[in-house]
Amino acid sequence: MATQSTHAKTTHKEPSGKAFYAGRGATETFKVSLGKGIFFWDTNGKRYLDGSSGAVAANIGHGNERVRDAMIEQANRISYVVRTAFTSESTDTLCTMISDLAGPGFDQTFLVSGGSEAVESALKLARQYAVVTGQPKRSKILARMPGYHGATLGAAAVTGDPDRDEMFGPIMQIMPKVAAPLSYRIPTSFDVDSYADHCADELERQILAEGEDTVLAFIMEPVGGIATGALVAPVHYYSKVREICDRYGILLIFDEVMCGAGRTGKFLAAHHWPNALPDLVVCAKGLSAGYTPLGAMIAPNKIVDKVVESGGFLHGHTYSGNPLSSAIGVAVLTEMLERDLMGNAERMGAMLRRKLNSLKDLSTTIGDVRGMGLLNAVEVVENKANKAIFSAAKQASYRVSEIARELGLHLYARRAASGKFGEWLMAAPPLIITEPEIDLFIELLTETFRIFEGETR
Ligand code: PLP
Repeated sequence: MATQSTHAKTTHKEPSGKAFYAGRGATETFKVSLGKGIFFWDTNGKRYLDGSSGAVAANIGHGNERVRDAMIEQANRISYVVRTAFTSESTDTLCTMISDLAGPGFDQTFLVSGGSEAVESALKLARQYAVVTGQPKRSKILARMPGYHGATLGAAAVTGDPDRDEMFGPIMQIMPKVAAPLSYRIPTSFDVDSYADHCADELERQILAEGEDTVLAFIMEPVGGIATGALVAPVHYYSKVREICDRYGILLIFDEVMCGAGRTGKFLAAHHWPNALPDLVVCAKGLSAGYTPLGAMIAPNKIVDKVVESGGFLHGHTYSGNPLSSAIGVAVLTEMLERDLMGNAERMGAMLRRKLNSLKDLSTTIGDVRGMGLLNAVEVVENKANKAIFSAAKQASYRVSEIARELGLHLYARRAASGKFGEWLMAAPPLIITEPEIDLFIELLTETFRIFEGETR
């Protein structure tokens, strides 16, 4: 398929005025004015294929009319009430939908306004549950290195990123980390399976080293996000982790902020490993597909009831469970179910990975392609033979995303922990993507890497 002429327009760079948003690797922002389906347009009329669904959030694409109608309908009724005294039809409906989709054992849903808040909610519910059930010594939350759980201090404390620890460590209580079972950068002497075993064993060793009765929970992304580049572990890792947590009475928390809400082809990524379900799950991003700030913690009665009986959950936010965001969430999930977008994520994801792997074979700088459903990553290396990454000065993944943006393709990039664990771009388009659109994605990505590799020769 020929690249559309709209892609040829120059990127519209505008000063971002007083909006203070530029993050690492992104010194400029670009003003957008319109979105439809998997595309959005800047104020210059230039079109972008949303190859990473923003920050892996826009699961049902842009400009969805069902969502727009639901927003108007709810706004015509009521947008906000305080959750501690009032609920609404939309909030009740959304919580029921989420718990039903999550399945048995995920009986109750606590709504919040995003991923970090959802993670905070899970950490606090776990802690309060331990205290009210006579285990006040349990306070340590183990997590993985690398890993990402959010920007607030509680979530940052369990995030596995040495750069963030160095910057924010003095104002938070950094929690112990164990190695994530990386599948590409494996220490010599291991293969993927034996390294995953080793990492699960490390979890057990760390629990014992900390004192088993002081450990409250283990939090992990079942399919990795930006910190690992869509890491998927071998199946036995999940069951081993579950067994270890059970052995020591430790709660297992799955952070499905990025991988949940249908992105991997099932409502929860956890559903891919039904024998290793977690105790608590958090979702966000795809739950509202970017149409409103929304997140959720999903918990079993056995935990929630104990906390409620003890006097109530000592936690909440002003916008938790607001009727407007809830109505949007209901519309997003309804759209996902009616259009079988989870099925599409599975089918299109498999096709996308096949084509990405073909591109990798032709490329000199794509070292690895991995992921599940439509949560995938393309890892960038300087040397495919020894997996060496580019020097910090090159900022290679950010340069690739810059070239892609010039061509009309948005890609979310990360040089994780200053490149200690590699660098990659997320290949995670909206779940509505079609086969011809996958071809256009691949065509733009191929051209992107052709230009990048020309620059690096
Ligand atoms: N957890 C994971 C796995 C994430 O990917 C993110 C965001 O990217 C978060 C938590 C934090 O979510 P938010 O940015 O909505 O606070």
